[in-house]
Amino acid sequence: MLNNVKVVLVGTSHSGNIGSAARAMKVMGLSNLVLVDPQCSVDEQTLALAAGAADIAQNAQVVSTLTEAVADCALVVGSSARSRTLEWPMLEPRECGQKFVEEGRSAPVALVFGRERTGLTNEELQTCHYHVCIPANPEYSSLNLAMAVQTLSYEVRMAYLERQQSQYESQEAAEYPRHKELELFFSHLEKVAKETQFISDEQPGKVMNKLRRLFSRARPEAQELNILRGILTAIEKRIS
Ligand code: SAH
Repeated sequence: MLNNVKVVLVGTSHSGNIGSAARAMKVMGLSNLVLVDPQCSVDEQTLALAAGAADIAQNAQVVSTLTEAVADCALVVGSSARSRTLEWPMLEPRECGQKFVEEGRSAPVALVFGRERTGLTNEELQTCHYHVCIPANPEYSSLNLAMAVQTLSYEVRMAYLERQQSQYESQEAAEYPRHKELELFFSHLEKVAKETQFISDEQPGKVMNKLRRLFSRARPEAQELNILRGILTAIEKRIS
């Protein structure tokens, strides 16, 4: 299960932070690190700070966009020091750990961290199902990147240990669509909304963002998403 948890660092600029994040992961039993468009390389400082976790930093997958990093994931959670800058479904760190352990049994899941100075962009935050915020001191709430990785990885580990000790058989987890299928659905929905002139070509932004939020909140299962795709296809056939 822990192998299904991806830690995704977006646009990291200090190579030491990659090393510290790798160490933070390894002590909690996580190993799957993905770097999105890193602004530094895995260098000596990375390896020094990674200590015994150099393997995780060296084996990190490097990709250019967040969408690419999470394409195969059924659950994507973005971490942000600013809670509710966007109204979006939120998880407490503890709930976040539990959800990862629950859903990571059947599919890859991703925990996304932002840039040291500017965090995640609104667009990146809107590709996540949920946001998680560590409820730190409201007057100074921004943790160092690797410390945030540490705190949330710890919650995943606690939930994992709790589940291992539980004597109850767990129920089958629901099957959720992968991120790339969800993106295909959003493109299809936008296309049909334009074809039917529900939204204009020039101004798709606001409505599509609201619809993204709606479907993030609803979290359709794989089969439910197929039904929605089917309806869109039926509409297209009818109007063509
Ligand atoms: N100034 C930036 C902070 C970046 S800190 C901002 O306002 O967003 C780098 C990353 O660490 C953040 O993008 C986030 O992923 C994580 N992080 C830092 N503090 C956090 C907190 N209190 N809760 C959740 N994530 C946090």
